[in-house]
Amino acid sequence: MPVTDAFIGLGSNLADPTAQLARAVAELASLPDTTLVAQSAFYSSHPVGPQDQPDFVNGAVWLQTRLSPLQLLDRLQQIEQHHGRERKQRWGPRTLDLDLLMYDDDTISSERLTVPHPELPNRDFVLQPLLDLKADLALPDGQTIAQLRQHCPDNNLRPLPPLPREPFPPG
Ligand code: AMP
Repeated sequence: MPVTDAFIGLGSNLADPTAQLARAVAELASLPDTTLVAQSAFYSSHPVGPQDQPDFVNGAVWLQTRLSPLQLLDRLQQIEQHHGRERKQRWGPRTLDLDLLMYDDDTISSERLTVPHPELPNRDFVLQPLLDLKADLALPDGQTIAQLRQHCPDNNLRPLPPLPREPFPPG
């Protein structure tokens, strides 16, 4: 496989969501045949769907990978499982949700995979992290993420403070 740009959305609203996302970013960065190009800021947002659940923490990463879309999806689902993900309720609370948002300029519509992710245009907590990563990013049909962001419903998106950096080792 050639090296391909892939954008992954991350979300969590259970069990220390910020730590879940930070760990997931490290796990994505260490996938085989994959490099982490950049990670977005983390944001807090109101839940979509059932409102009797905590706010979400969301972010996105830009990867360069030789994994195929389905190999990448398998890896995302493995990472979700490692984080104790259970599927109980649609749009319900979750320890970790990983979505393949975009894979190069590919349009995929198969049983397991729809790319670009179909909810991408409606979610400010996906669009804003993508803008952090690449301000001129556009969907395969030419719509820019910046245009979509302007017309997207408001989920009360708030940037979270940057994570503290690891202290330098003594000496
Ligand atoms: P969710 O509950 O949102 O994590 O949805 C998981 C299901 O969505 C899995 O069965 C995946 O096969 C399917 N799916 C379809 N397209 C995508 C995508 N672009 N990224 C992640 N999961 C996807």
